Amino acid sequence: MAKRVAKLQKDLCVACGTCVKVCPKNAISIYKGKYAQVDESKCIGCSLCAKECPASIITIKTKEVVA
Ligand code: SF4
Ligand code: SF4
Repeated sequence: MAKRVAKLQKDLCVACGTCVKVCPKNAISIYKGKYAQVDESKCIGCSLCAKECPASIITIKTKEVVA
């Protein structure tokens, strides 16, 4: 089974929090005020965060999940 999830380049993240605000699933948090991280178990791959990220560092990837 495949699942779509958000991936981000954390070394380029400016921790602005935009992705945290727009995510409908509360799947993103800012780790220690430094960079965003995605909880893949909550992410539904809707791509809202990718559209809104001012640094354009979020992409949606397909991930194989063992059912
Ligand atoms: S793709 Fe959607 S659900 Fe996943 S982290 Fe981004 S906004 Fe949240
Ligand atoms: S919107 Fe982009 S730059 Fe801002 S915290 Fe999220 S991933 Fe980082």
